[in-house]
Amino acid sequence: MTEMTKLERDPKNVALQLLSATSLPDWEVFREMDAPRYTTVDYYRMACHMIFACHRCGNCCTTGDPIRLRPEDAAAIAKSLKIPLNKALKKYTIQDPKKAGVLDFKHILPCKFYDLSAKGCKIYAARPWSCRIFPFLGIYGSEDKIKVNESCPGSVETMKILKEAIEVVRADAKMANATDLAEARNAKEFLREALNSI
Ligand code: SF4
Ligand code: SF4
Repeated sequence: MTEMTKLERDPKNVALQLLSATSLPDWEVFREMDAPRYTTVDYYRMACHMIFACHRCGNCCTTGDPIRLRPEDAAAIAKSLKIPLNKALKKYTIQDPKKAGVLDFKHILPCKFYDLSAKGCKIYAARPWSCRIFPFLGIYGSEDKIKVNESCPGSVETMKILKEAIEVVRADAKMANATDLAEARNAKEFLREALNSI
């Protein structure tokens, strides 16, 4: 897992990397690499995720329902609470009625693990993947567009910042023409780090 510096997450730098990364399709860049292939939209979402700053308003934890869980999320929560997995499953999860084999947190608003007074997650280190990737990355892989969650002020602000940063980079002809293969490869790696830093 790589820690990114503040400078690397600077909006202008992220916008520059994003435009380079999306200048060539993945099949050209990753032809010889055993690497997952992402869509252009995925790279935009990674860029958003890098710029995103949570306002700690608690909206997602108090109104977000259902909250989806992967099997490993339930296991991590059980471990964090020092209780058997079957007890954690019974106490905190429910079968998603729309997706066979998929678990959600029980219908609880706010989330049972949200600390209203401290405005934070009581199981932060073991919080589910869906909470880690909110609000930009999809839990089941690629989606065809970025959905801005209007109830998340950090999400709205991020889109504004990224759009402005892209305008700045595009206004600089030298930067906007960064379509070199090596640069595109480096930019894609840079953005993929966003996933590793979650
Ligand atoms: S698990 Fe934590 S981060 Fe996820 S919704 Fe509940 S309180 Fe929020
Ligand atoms: S709604 Fe957005 S800004 Fe508010 S706590 Fe959740 S992630 Fe942070």
